[in-house]
Amino acid sequence: MRILVTGGAGFIGSALVRHILRQTEHSVLNLDKLTYAGNLESLASVENNSRHQFVQADIGDRETVSRVLAEFQPDAIMHLAAESHVDRSIDGPGEFIQTNIVGTYNLLEATRTYWSGLPEARKHAFRFHHISTDEVYGDLHGVDDLFTETTPYAPSSPYSASKAASDHLVRAWQRTYGLPVLLTNCSNNYGPFHFPEKLIPLVILNALDGKPLPVYGDGLQVRDWLFVEDHARALLKVVSEGQVGETYNIGGHNEQKNIDVVRAICALLEELAPHKPAGLARYEDLITFVKDRPGHDQRYAIDAGKIERELGWVPQETFASGLRKTVQWYLDNLEWCRHVQDGSYQRERLGASA
Ligand code: NAD
Repeated sequence: MRILVTGGAGFIGSALVRHILRQTEHSVLNLDKLTYAGNLESLASVENNSRHQFVQADIGDRETVSRVLAEFQPDAIMHLAAESHVDRSIDGPGEFIQTNIVGTYNLLEATRTYWSGLPEARKHAFRFHHISTDEVYGDLHGVDDLFTETTPYAPSSPYSASKAASDHLVRAWQRTYGLPVLLTNCSNNYGPFHFPEKLIPLVILNALDGKPLPVYGDGLQVRDWLFVEDHARALLKVVSEGQVGETYNIGGHNEQKNIDVVRAICALLEELAPHKPAGLARYEDLITFVKDRPGHDQRYAIDAGKIERELGWVPQETFASGLRKTVQWYLDNLEWCRHVQDGSYQRERLGASA
């Protein structure tokens, strides 16, 4: 199979590319604009793999995307490229509208033209897999409620609204033009190579530097966490075995309050990194409550029963095992982190272009 992955230099995209190359004989063309969130150092382990090629391009550039499709001749597209950070979407929604909505529209149109010209058998087998978030459903207020594939959309932030819009576009392209699409909506991911602006890596790295560990509001917001490699396995399963037109929710049954996540990281660091910055008695002493994010969703939790029943996918990591692996990974890969923090990871980009 020949798979075009968009956003494959990002956190989940790079985990997916590494997973596909490790577990299958598929070839991958990785198309990524390399925004601040794209990091070629996350792909160092597949740099010399002849089944992986990288193209630096914007999904909004129709001419380049069309040329890449014609040359690479994919059997499937896995679309992950997006602006993904909620706080950034609040400060500046424009890029989110441009990439997540207009960019997805552009990719769908380029794909439709390419797909229409395929011979019948390949046309039938082709898949467009859109990777989305559980944040499109808004938030849950009951303690036991779960998001299912039929939960109505009620996004709260510019990020989740832009992802909701892109989900609607993808479904419309199937209904209207017959494009064979699949959708997945996943809960919060964590794991290796996560950009340090996100909660878990931010807390690990700030703690090691003796800096405050910021917690929004009262810290009682609940998120359902999934180890990124479990997500990558689910995505490969859906694109290979999922039913066209279906949506699959993906989650880890790991609901945690934000404050408990921060405390769990502190406890792991006490064990794994006992030599603390000078003058610090306990990592937990760095916890600092800060003003809540506007429109902050209270609780997300996913019912992943459909993908478990229909495709036999279950997460392999518990939150405890995944978090331990993640903290250990950051301790072992401080160089990757420092390159992100000092901006030097962006210098690698000079060599890569479409
Ligand atoms: P990320 O921000 O780490 O990576 C996004 C990647 O897309 C980057 O490599 C970036 O360079 C690239 N990109 C951005 N704009 C582009 C454009 N216009 N053209 C081409 N490439 C572009 O994001 P992530 O956390 O890896 O998320 C990947 C996808 O999964 C997103 O669609 C996101 O909505 C979805 N998702 C994320 C989570 C999560 O917890 N991180 C959960 C569920 C779903």
